[in-house]
Amino acid sequence: MNNTTGMPKIPKHAPMSQFNIADNCLQIGGQPLIDIARQLGSTPFYAYDRAVMRTQTDQLRDALPAAVHLHYAMKANPMPEVVSYLAELADGLDVASAGELKVALEAGAAPINISFAGPGKSDADLQAAIDSGVIINMESNGEMLRIAALAENKSVRPRVAIRVNPDFELKSAGMKMGSGPKPFGVDAECVPAMLKTLGRLPLEFMGFHIFSGSQNLQEQAIIDAQAKTFELAFRLAQFAPSPVRWLNIGGGLGVPYFPGEQRLDLAAIGANLLPLIETARKKFPEIEIIMELGRYLTAEAGIYVCEVLDRKVSRGQTFLITNGGLHHHLAASGNFGQIIRKNYPLCLGNRMSADALEVVNVVGPLCTPLDVLGDKVKLPRAYPGDLVVVFQSGAYGFSASPKDFLNHPYPKQILL
Ligand SMILES: *Cc1c(COP(=O)(O)O)cnc(C)c1O
Repeated sequence: MNNTTGMPKIPKHAPMSQFNIADNCLQIGGQPLIDIARQLGSTPFYAYDRAVMRTQTDQLRDALPAAVHLHYAMKANPMPEVVSYLAELADGLDVASAGELKVALEAGAAPINISFAGPGKSDADLQAAIDSGVIINMESNGEMLRIAALAENKSVRPRVAIRVNPDFELKSAGMKMGSGPKPFGVDAECVPAMLKTLGRLPLEFMGFHIFSGSQNLQEQAIIDAQAKTFELAFRLAQFAPSPVRWLNIGGGLGVPYFPGEQRLDLAAIGANLLPLIETARKKFPEIEIIMELGRYLTAEAGIYVCEVLDRKVSRGQTFLITNGGLHHHLAASGNFGQIIRKNYPLCLGNRMSADALEVVNVVGPLCTPLDVLGDKVKLPRAYPGDLVVVFQSGAYGFSASPKDFLNHPYPKQILL
């Protein structure tokens, strides 16, 4: 007498099918997780799978028009080995500090294929960018004047683009970074005057950078934003001192983290871009079109692994106490820009399935109630020594976490 009609559907995590499972153990880079843990000699650690990054890149290339150049925004995962690998897979790198610029140059990316954005660039940052010949995404009129002053009496003219704070919004982006009052970029309505000044300065004008948001999982919102991005670029180009050669249309492609979220349908995004790019190339035959992506290229490829130290029951609820948590993976604890805490997808990497599941709270070792990795999650029964895996951890994990908080050892990182 099971009547399921009208039952609320309980949202589930998207399947984490990017990794293989063998002998009930998760595999990363074709290696069983327990072997990786043994090889590293300690937990916690982050492991990143090259093949998954390659698949993400290949899928983008298949879906997007061939003219789109892919840049890797390296703040998502600045591990030098990852940056080197993505420097090969992608067409260029986006950096946001002189430190990232150094890693990008060491990874072998050509300066013309590196762009440097960031709302607060010091003179030292700007000097490093000018000396290396990368494209500087200027975030204000003042920054433009400082670049021009630093380049005075130099034989080469710095390559510059204007980062535009658009006059439209990327709907349903996880993190909005355009429209309204923002510290990022130059308000679209102020760009014509800035372009006029630019024409009188010893700068090489490349084009525009229009980035409107991050972690978007709605194709239609991305499509709308891209159409508006091209339209805005065409409007502003009328005021430019020279033809637009470079247009960075941002990225914003999201990945599923939370229950109910699904992977993007890239085909629709690609189909929408094709005529936009054709129009752009008719207007500006030399134009290079760039999409910059961080999370999309690395998030799905990474896992964070920690170990169960203890299990205990407190007033009816079971707690798995692990040696990893917020200090290593701020985002999975829900403290990196989430409004309502939700669980990242978790599993027991050495016990992928079991006859019986139990509902547990997975917490870290820190003396704060914020140190939660899983709130009432269903897992196979876990014991001390078991490996808790947090999926979707290849972006904004290691480098975006307060690793000195409470002075536990840093997690290791391995690229497989
Ligand atoms: C952070 C950032 C990105 C990368 O965003 P993802 O969501 O990781 O793809 C791209 N461009 C700029 C300017 C950024 O600040």
